Amino acid sequence: MVRIKDLNKFYGSFHVLKDVDLEVARGEVLVVVGASGSGKSTLIRCVNGLEEYQSGNLEVDGFRMPRAEEREFGEVKGLRDIRRGVGMVFQQFNLFPHLSVLHNVTLGPIRVRGKSRDEAEAQAMQLLDRVGLRDQALKYPGALSGGQQQRVAIARSLAMEPHLMLFDEPTSALDPEMVGEVLDVMRELAREGMTMMIVTHEMGFAREVSDRVIYVDQGRITETSKPDAFFDNPQNERTRAFLSRVL
Ligand code: ATP
Ligand code: MG
Repeated sequence: MVRIKDLNKFYGSFHVLKDVDLEVARGEVLVVVGASGSGKSTLIRCVNGLEEYQSGNLEVDGFRMPRAEEREFGEVKGLRDIRRGVGMVFQQFNLFPHLSVLHNVTLGPIRVRGKSRDEAEAQAMQLLDRVGLRDQALKYPGALSGGQQQRVAIARSLAMEPHLMLFDEPTSALDPEMVGEVLDVMRELAREGMTMMIVTHEMGFAREVSDRVIYVDQGRITETSKPDAFFDNPQNERTRAFLSRVL
């Protein structure tokens, strides 16, 4: 589903991602951990083209993401094809505050996918039901809790029928009592076979739900393991130090 080969990315002269090799199989749940500033967000933002990369290769779903210089020369085809199939959920929910919950979820399918309003609303209600918010459909985001807003953001993303979901610390902005309801939705998605790349500090969740965990250290993937091995028997000194701080 995702195939990254020898990828390098720079912010100006700052070398932020270094020789990254990574494959994510269809249906796999990959958790990305690492210290603050190590490049986790940058890595997953490269996967849907929110960040450009300078060298190497990145493919999603068989489409190749154009490199920075190709994009500069107007090559957007791969980018468009990839974006169609990739959903992303951020730490900040980024809902449209002036639109109802229902309208937040139907907007993309109607505007971008050309669905009829009826069709989009029926689908949205199903998705809202799935995230436990059917009865909140006509409210505005400001009237919802953080956990509810994040579940709407997930439903909105799913409404575009992605093949791959990216999550960048989806629970980090939430009050502790709301973390569980969002993780439950993600757990359910994983169970249904969604391919997911998740940056998270929720180590219990990571261990339980992931198929593999990678550790990013100063822009390099320094450890890739099954969750039990990752947490019980980390191979790399930096991973051990990190885990001893967060567990
Ligand atoms: P955190 O856990 O704090 O979210 P992260 O692992 O997600 O950190 P990134 O946000 O990917 O880290 O940032 C990696 C490095 O790149 C950091 O040193 C950061 O300061 C730098 N960086 C991020 N975005 C930019 C940018 N737009 N321009 C320049 N440098 C950036
Ligand atoms: Mg980040």
